[in-house]
Order: sequence, then structure tokens, then C-alpha cells
Amino acid sequence: MRPPSQKRLQAAKALNQLVLRFYQECLEARAKGKPVGWMPPMNGAIEIFYAMDLQPVFPENWSPLCAAFGYAPQNFRIAEALGYSRDLCGYLRNIIGYVHGLMKEGGTPLALPEPDLLLSFGGGCVPAMKIFHILEDRFPEARIFSADLPQVAAEQVQDHHVRYAVSEMYRLIDFLTKTTGKKLDYDRLKEVVGLSNQASILWEEIMAYRRYIPSPFSAAEIGIMFVMVTRQGTREAVDFLTQVRDEVAARAENKIGVIEEEQVRLFWDNIPPWYNLGLLKSFEKMNGVVVAETYSSAWSIRLEGDDPIEALARKSLLSYSLVSCVSIKKRKEMVLKACRDYVIDGVVFHRNKSCAPITLGQMDIKRALEEELGIPSVIIDGDHMDERNFSLAQFQTRTEAFMEMLKHKKGLW
Ligand code: SF4
Repeated sequence: MRPPSQKRLQAAKALNQLVLRFYQECLEARAKGKPVGWMPPMNGAIEIFYAMDLQPVFPENWSPLCAAFGYAPQNFRIAEALGYSRDLCGYLRNIIGYVHGLMKEGGTPLALPEPDLLLSFGGGCVPAMKIFHILEDRFPEARIFSADLPQVAAEQVQDHHVRYAVSEMYRLIDFLTKTTGKKLDYDRLKEVVGLSNQASILWEEIMAYRRYIPSPFSAAEIGIMFVMVTRQGTREAVDFLTQVRDEVAARAENKIGVIEEEQVRLFWDNIPPWYNLGLLKSFEKMNGVVVAETYSSAWSIRLEGDDPIEALARKSLLSYSLVSCVSIKKRKEMVLKACRDYVIDGVVFHRNKSCAPITLGQMDIKRALEEELGIPSVIIDGDHMDERNFSLAQFQTRTEAFMEMLKHKKGLW
């Protein structure tokens, strides 16, 4: 066994500052009277907010930070005491616990500002919508916008879905204009959507470099996705991703891998365990690298064409359905394609207790991998937010046996 390499991305070190700056900016916005809107991620509202100089806040993105900082267990206790079942999505329980506990108490180095606006977008999963319905009671002063985008499989999106999503975008702009007094400048929106598109192109380029052998970038650094969730449509996101792309490209061309001797290439399915991203690195001591994962594809959606509103409407319809099981057929195709493109030896299925939508269909995909590509896989029981639903001993036993089997299959054991 070789020790894990220290060759992590230099550019990604800037990420901590970026996270800090974003959450400080959110608090400052509220203090300065700039309207703050809470919303689900993965839709075109972010670009509209940046174009109108409004402050977007993403409770779902706040949840992984709570898990990483160790706030999540306390948030879960509060949510459960309020009657929210432990079977519900970890993001939902975390944010409900947070707004009723730590947010009121204060005293944490980072915090969320209270919302002036609450946006529920539709199109995503039921918990993503329910979070906002519950928040409406906690923040009765906030103005509410509810869109009802259809939950439609990516391959079934048709013109009438897009036309409807476009009309919802205009309704959102109308709502924002009336409630905040700010007007949308369409030239500025075009500029923001252009930056957003640049970020998507850079994202795709970075992900493509992971196809190199050895891979210059592992899933343990997927935290860079923060900029796609919170900063899409800004120059800051483009500059950061350019830095990451350049570094990853240089590594790939110079054959500098995450570890010195990459023997096994892995794919991770489902959301990673935010309370311990180090688990993704644990394969490295057995010469394995997680070179691709389910989440990444949803950030490559292009925002092209003459009409920025239509581009945002398409993004809103497609983002969620590309990672979830709105269509098991599509997700299966995407995982199989990624396994071919990234030359994957084995797949780790994270059977995620607190995300039913992304866990659904894993057995079908597992079977297809074996039958169509001869790629073995292992199932790990866990939870992307709630550590109580994860057993380190089970993870170690299963992953070590899996790695031995994969090496044996490749004649390396
Ligand atoms: S997709 Fe999964 S993790 Fe995201 S809000 Fe829905 S249930 Fe929760």
C-alpha cells in the first residue's frame, strides 16, 4: 500500500476564501438593505438575481457547510424535536433545525441572513419544495414567489415545457421588480448569462481532463462545485474555474496524477458524505482514485442562443432532472457513458438514506453496468448529511474487499 499523495490542487485552496467571501457578502447585503432571496439551487433564478443586483442565498448549499462544521447534529435534534422524521431528506432537516435553533441563537462564525424573499421553483424534488413551504411559517415577513415548473425527464423536454418555463421566468422578473423596486437591464442579463455559460464550458473542460490516465483531479475536490451553485453568472466563478482548468490541464499533460501509482479508477454514485469528504480519498491508499461522480454532469448545461430568458428556462428544466431519477433511463445512460469515457474499473453506489430521488434506480444501473460493460460495483449504506446513518466499519470492510476484487480482476493482486 502506498501513502496517499499530497498533490491536491493548488487552485482549490482559494476555495475556502471564496466560501467565506460569499457568506460574508450575504450577511453584508442584508445589513446594507440589499434584498436577500432564499432559493433552491440548479435553476435560472441565480442569473436573474445577479443581473438585478439582488443577493441569492441557497439553504441547500448551507447544509453541506453545516455538516462540515459539525452544526448538523444539533440542527437534526431540533428538527426532530419539532416532529420532522429522521427518514426525511438531510438538507430539509438541517435547514429547519438551523432556522429554529442556531440562526436564532447566533454566535456561529458564519451564518445566514434572514430572507426578504422566498422562492420555491418547482421542477425539483418534493423535499426541495417543502423546505420553502416550511420556511414561509418561520419567516412570515418574507415575500413569496412559487413557480410550478414541471418535473419532466431531460429527454422529454418539449417546446411547450420551455414556453411555460419562459413564462414563469417573466413572472419571476415581474415579482422581483414589484417587490424590490429594481428593474432588470436585459443587456446586463445577457452579460451575466454569458458568464454563466463560460463557467459551464470551463466546468466541462475540467471534468474532461479527469479522463486522462492518471487522473489529475479526484472527487475529493468536488467542493469546487461551490462556485457553480452560488456564483454562476459572475466573473469570480469564471476566474476561479479558469485557474482550476489551467492547473488541471498542466497536470494532465505532464501526467501528474492524484496519486503516484493509479491502478484502479472508480465512479461514485450519489451525493458524497459532506461530513467526511476524506472518505473519497480513502481509496487512494489502495491505489484507487474516484475520477468521476454523478453530480458533475448537471453543471455543464450550456446557456446559448439569442434569448437569455429561454436559456435560463431550459437550464431550470434540465439541471435537476439530469442528476435525479426523474428518468432512470437517462440516469442509467449517463452513468454508463461516464464509465466508458472515464475508463472506470468499478462503481461505488452510495445508498443514500436521506436522498430517495437520487438513490432510486441504483439497482437497475448496477445490473446494467454488469451486463453491458462488465463493470463490478459495491453498495455502501450511508447518508450525505446524517452521520448516524453511516458506519465507518462497514464502509472500510466493503471498500477494501471491493478494491481487492478489482485489483484481482486486473491481475494486480
Ligand atoms: S434531491 Fe435529494 S438531497 Fe436534494 S433536496 Fe431532494 S431529497 Fe434532498
